[in-house]
Parts: sequence; structure tokens; C-alpha cells
Amino acid sequence: MLSYRHSFHAGNHADVLKHTVQSLIIEALKEKEKPFLYLDTHAGAGRYQLSGEHAERTGEYLEGIARLWQCDDIPETLTPYLDAVKAFNPGGQLRYYPGSPLIARHLLRPQDKLQLTELHPSDYPLLRGEFSKDKRAMVSRGDGYQQLKAKLPPVSRRGLILIDPPYEIKTDYQAVVQGISDGYKRFATGVYALWYPVVLRQQIKRMIHELEETGIRRILQIELAVRPDSDQRGMSASGMIVINPPWKLEQQMAELLPWLHARLVPEGIGHTRLEWIVPE
Ligand code: SAM
Repeated sequence: MLSYRHSFHAGNHADVLKHTVQSLIIEALKEKEKPFLYLDTHAGAGRYQLSGEHAERTGEYLEGIARLWQCDDIPETLTPYLDAVKAFNPGGQLRYYPGSPLIARHLLRPQDKLQLTELHPSDYPLLRGEFSKDKRAMVSRGDGYQQLKAKLPPVSRRGLILIDPPYEIKTDYQAVVQGISDGYKRFATGVYALWYPVVLRQQIKRMIHELEETGIRRILQIELAVRPDSDQRGMSASGMIVINPPWKLEQQMAELLPWLHARLVPEGIGHTRLEWIVPE
């Protein structure tokens, strides 16, 4: 079943949180000259037209990236992320939203590499087209979880692994833990960033419990809720679970989360969370 299309959700509050964290990790990895690998297991189509039929139908970006677009008090740590979005909107009008692979492409250096996987028959050719001229990138169609076994450790022994499944099948909540465990056995020093939606809190509690059971240490949880937890349909919050976060990330997010929450949720409901699931 591959009914999920990210084009309906591109630029929403969850993308803003995800891509903020992604950008901060990439910027931290760039502090050393040595190259690194950016591995994206569920890469999506790459570029999303916000005036397109899908994005217009849900209007989710209006309560996401559009709320930051006109802000004139942007914190400095958000600049790499927002500069990447601006690069796709040269006229200044918000028309396109870059997904995680294009944000990475914008931020990575000539010496770094990208490994991108997408399974959807419509999104994969779009993604491949975006990277046809980029010699740093390998784009493949297949199961992203397999890449955590096949492509790790990277030759450079440095890397960010973004795991961002659609969770349209319930087994994704277990598959992500198994995938991280498989990857970590091969590459324990990598930075792993797992995105999750809060639809039913119980699913996330179980997933986190299973992650704790793996014995992996240094696991940071970053969450932003736009509504209180609920058993009604729909996503009330989203989060990033980061294994081996760069040392500055916790402090950066401690400053950014309240700012992001205030801008994304002017009604003031929901919450933010920043805590170690497993410390050092
Ligand atoms: N990471 C993207 C971004 O931030 O711009 C968004 C990815 S979207 C949430 C999830 C993507 O995973 C969808 O494009 C979907 O087609 C794809 N997908 C679903 N199952 C997959 C699998 N087993 N392996 C790789 N991709 C998969």
C-alpha cells in the first residue's frame, strides 16, 4: 500500500520541525572538513509546489512554513533551513517547498555524499530527476530500511541518517526501531534522526520503549505539539528522535522550540518537549 503522498503535507508544522533539526545537524557535521554521508531512507519527491492541487487541498503549509515566511525576528540558528527554502523561491513569494533531500543538497559541500531512497513509483522519478546532474548523489528506488544494512557504515565514517517513513502501515513503528538497530550495529557513531507523528500517543510510547530496549544510548527527543494529545483523527504533534546528537543541538533546540511553538501555534495550545530518552 503506497497511498501516502508527501505533496499533501509539504511545509506543514511537522516538516518545519523536521527540517530545522535536519539543518542543524548538517551544519554541525560541516564544522569538520572531513566529508560525511547524508542518507535519507524515505526521501519523497524532493520538491513540492505549494500552489499545486495537493498542497492547496489541505492547506497544511499555511500553518507551517507560511507562518515563518514573513517573520522578521528569525533566530540565527534557523537561517540555514530558511535560506534553503528561500533558494527555491527566488522571487520572494513562497511557491515551492524543498523536501529533506533538496535541503540536504543545498547545505552539503562538494566533498559530501547523498544516498537517497524512495519507493513510490510516481515520486521516485521526480526525485531522480532533481539529482540527475549531482555527482554527489545516489538515488535508488527500493525499501529505505534495507539501506540501513546495505549502505552503512559510510566510507567516510561520518554521517546523518534521516528516517522519515509515512507510518501509513502500523508496522512502521516497529520497522523504524529494527532499522535503527540494524544501522547502529554497523555504524554506532552515526547521527540518526527519526521523525514521528503523534496520532495515538500510545504508539509513540511503545516505539520509544522498544528503542530503549535496544541498549542504544544518547537518544534525544524533540517534540512540538499543535494540539493536546487526543484520540480523535489526525496528527496532534510530531517529533524527532536523535541518536548521537551534535553537542550543540540540545541547547539550540531549547532556544528554538519556544520560538517555533509561538509562531506555529499562535493560539498557544499544545506543548514542546526536549528530553533525553536515554542519556550518555
Ligand atoms: N523525507 C521527506 C521530506 O522530509 O521531504 C518526506 C518523506 S515522506 C514523509 C515518506 C516517503 O516514504 C513517501 O514519499 C513514501 O512514498 C516513501 N516510502 C514509503 N515506504 C517506503 C519504503 N519502505 N522505503 C522507501 N520509501 C518509502
